[in-house]
Amino acid sequence: MDAQHELRVAVIVVAAGSGERLGQGQPKAQATLGAEPLLAHALRGVLAARVGQLVCVVVPRGDTELRAVCAGIDPEIITVDGGSTRSDSVGNALAVLPESMDAVLVHDAARPLTPEEVFHRVRNALDAGAKAVIPALAVVDTIKRAQPAADPGIAPEQVHSTPQREELRAVQTPQGFDLATLRTAHEAATMFDDAQAAAITDDAMLVESRGVPVFLVRGSELSLKITTPTDLLIAEALLEGPAAPRWVEG
Ligand code: C5P
Repeated sequence: MDAQHELRVAVIVVAAGSGERLGQGQPKAQATLGAEPLLAHALRGVLAARVGQLVCVVVPRGDTELRAVCAGIDPEIITVDGGSTRSDSVGNALAVLPESMDAVLVHDAARPLTPEEVFHRVRNALDAGAKAVIPALAVVDTIKRAQPAADPGIAPEQVHSTPQREELRAVQTPQGFDLATLRTAHEAATMFDDAQAAAITDDAMLVESRGVPVFLVRGSELSLKITTPTDLLIAEALLEGPAAPRWVEG
């Protein structure tokens, strides 16, 4: 890539999850936060950040509500059907991106409050030449590896080991990639068996396993992922809190 050439960047927003753990009986991206679906918040963040030329949203197959959220937005948003895993959903979006794109940001609709600055840090790293870059935060809890318990009559699991906390990071989205690099990694993953495919929890792991350096930039505590009803309560509080309006870093 020559220094004069501005990267053409697509943003994929994955919104095809079932929302089972949220327990609202609807796809998670439809869940209401401050009177709007999570997807509407996530899209507003993507568009406000102005980090890409094209936005592609992955919605549950047959969904009309989330497609309606995407309709009428300028610039036009491409929608595609999701797959049975997050990785399949990303793959479906990669399949429709034009060859003219150089790079891609993959963002979870389940992170409705990601500040603009996080998008910018990811985009800046791509502009600086990264083939892969992800936002991350230091871990505050001590994390243990678990294994089945020696005596399941006492408890189902016991500690296997304790990784050094200083080395651990909790990673977020948007994750940024050179488009060809991510496409190649996803194509290789189509050979995975069901268990391997279900274990792909982010895009970076596909790329890092191929030896590509994955750079870390600072994430944000506001960029929490909505998974459980408690997360939704926290997000409501953040949205209404005087100290943390949308798009402002904490
Ligand atoms: O399930 P989880 O919370 O890890 O999902 C992260 C993101 O991936 C969510 O935005 C969800 O909508 C999306 N997803 C998807 N297709 C799937 C599963 C998850 O687009 N099959």
